[in-house]
This record gives sequence, structure tokens and C-alpha cells, in this order.
Amino acid sequence: MIGEPTPLELDLIRMVEATGPIPFDRYMALCLGHPRYGYYMSRDPFGARGDFTTAPEVTQMFGEIIGIWCMQCFELMGKPQKFDLIELGPGRGTLMADLLRAACAMPEFVKSLRLRLIETSPVLRDMQKQALANAGTSATWHDSLDEVEPAATLLIANEFFDALPVLLFQRLKDGWAEFAVGLREGKLAIGLIPALHPLPAWTAGAKEGEVAEVRPAADSLGMAIGRRLAENSGAALIIDYGHGRSSLGQTLQAVRRHRPVSILDRPGESDLTAHVDFDCLVRAITTGGGRTLRLMPQGDFLHQMGLAVRAQILSRNATEAQKSDIAAAMDRVAGPKQMGQMFQILAATSPWLPCPHPFSV
Ligand code: SAH
Repeated sequence: MIGEPTPLELDLIRMVEATGPIPFDRYMALCLGHPRYGYYMSRDPFGARGDFTTAPEVTQMFGEIIGIWCMQCFELMGKPQKFDLIELGPGRGTLMADLLRAACAMPEFVKSLRLRLIETSPVLRDMQKQALANAGTSATWHDSLDEVEPAATLLIANEFFDALPVLLFQRLKDGWAEFAVGLREGKLAIGLIPALHPLPAWTAGAKEGEVAEVRPAADSLGMAIGRRLAENSGAALIIDYGHGRSSLGQTLQAVRRHRPVSILDRPGESDLTAHVDFDCLVRAITTGGGRTLRLMPQGDFLHQMGLAVRAQILSRNATEAQKSDIAAAMDRVAGPKQMGQMFQILAATSPWLPCPHPFSV
């Protein structure tokens, strides 16, 4: 019932009482991934009735085009006999089902792939199993990328990195302080504590009052992806909303039923996301030994990969209503005022791989 504290809120209150204020990234990790009460752990958050809609849920063309990109990379990798096709946070499994359907055009690709899905939510794992039941390939599920042995890799992450926990800092007169979740009059409250974590170099010019978001989880995952690409042939495609240059300011927000709400609102029942800092991600991947390619808006990527042609083919046997749905979906995922400009695509490859279309070094 709205008004009653959520079960996670009660847990968090007990935690603060026992051990003191919780660093912000821990708060975010628990809100999203608490084994019992975490936002993703017990619900399907997608679609009109959920809290948000992602590109693969808008149109099948999204996953199909990513499939074509993967097949291209498979060729550039010299068609390895075995490779891991990895998706981080596959949601309902829609992108992967569309990708694999497109991949039927290249039987060697399907024969060589081992599907590895990185997903912590049992509810979404079940949905992924259903979505992929007829995909003609078996999959294994893992809690984190660390569980997957190094191998030739094609890795996809759509709207995954924005769900990784962030730390929040504020510049005070004498140095940095860190936001933490504590208690005020028995209720959860956000306050400042002396900074427990080190700040990266790009925060150096901050003025008093300015806020910095730092992403240790994204950094270590970026490094792990870079290492995989340095050890074996492979490529990765990371798609998310975010900024190309590390900059100060808060992008963290909470959303419930498509509306922004306060960060402390109904913990475990609201989605928490922060923009991806692609600058940091590039540094992490290259530190790990991977090569990153030039960041590209999602709309440019989709168009250069043939979105309009695919839409035309789909429209051939469609009714008038279906045709207008296809056109609207195309605009939604690629239009400059919709997801086309706001979402960015970062591609990374093994340093020795030729650069895949439509990216440049
Ligand atoms: N890629 C999907 C879903 C994006 S939502 C789409 O485009 O529709 C984020 C997904 O990542 C969900 O499947 C969620 O359960 C999963 N997830 C979030 N944090 C995770 C973590 N730390 N480890 C593994 N999976 C996580």
C-alpha cells in the first residue's frame, strides 16, 4: 500500500541503525538488486504498464540490425569455430530473440555461438527462457561476466550500464563529501559524510557546491570487457543514454510508471538510473586492453546499418495500419527528437580486428 514503508525500506532502516549511513552506490545496488526486494528481482518493468520501454521492445528491427552487426564482426574475427555471444541484462530476451532470428541467414554463426546471458533477476531469466525457447540454440545464465571464462566474444549491452550503481559527491569549501543514506526522525534521508572513496582526476576543477557522479561498477566492468577483447578476438556494442565527456552534475534519477520520483521514493519499487559516462567507459575498456571506436548516436548507427531498407521490406506485406506502426517505430528508435540522438553507441573490439561498419577508429 502506498504510504506504508516498502519491505526494502524497513530493511534499509535496520541496516542504517546497525552499521551507520549507507554509501550511495550500495543504496542503489540494493534498490535494484536486493535478492528479495530489489526492483528488478521481482517484476517485469518494461512496456506501457511498466516503468520504461526500451528500443528492442519498440521494434524487432533493433535486434535484427544488431544481429547483422554481430555477423559482420564474426566474419572480421575469421569465423571462429566457437565464440561466446554474451548479452548483459537481456530484459525480456526480445533483443536476443530478434538477433538470433536474423542470424539464421548465417548458419556458421549460429553453429559456432554459445549463448551466455548475464542476468540477476529470476523473473527476467524466466522471461528470457520463454523468449528464446524456439531460438534453436541453448543458453547458460550467469550472475556476472566474471563467471564466464575468457573466449572469443561478441558482447551486447542495451540499457544495462545505466542501471549500475553510482557514487555521489559534493564539493565543499575544504574538499569533497559523499552522499550517503542515513536516518532522520526514523525515516531514510540523504546526507553528506566525509568522502570515503577517492575521486577521479576529471573532477579536479569542481567549484564549491558542484556534484560529481562516479561509477566504480561501470569502470570495473569496462575493464573486464577490455581484458576479454585483449585476450581473444571479439567485439562489444554498448548502447545507452549518456554523455561523451565526463562532466560534473547529477544525472541520477528515480522513475516509477514513466514519471520521475524522488530518489528515496518507495525503495525497491522505483527504477534508479544514471546517465552513462562514455568517457570513463572508454578509459576503462582501453585500460583493460580493448580498442574503442568513435561514439555514435543510435539513429546514425541504425540508419547506416540499413534501418530504412529493413522497414521497407517489413512494410511490403503490411496493412496500412501496420505500415504506419513500422514508420512510427522507426522514428521512435532513430528519430533525432526521440531515442536516435539521446542514445549513444560505443563499439569496442580487439585491437587487431579491422574496424566494423559503420564505426571509425
Ligand atoms: N537490455 C534489455 C533490458 C534493460 S533493463 C532491453 O533493452 O530491453 C536492465 C537489465 O539488466 C534487466 O534485465 C536487469 O534485470 C538487468 N540487470 C540490472 N542490473 C544488473 C546486474 N548488476 N547484473 C546483472 N543484470 C542486471
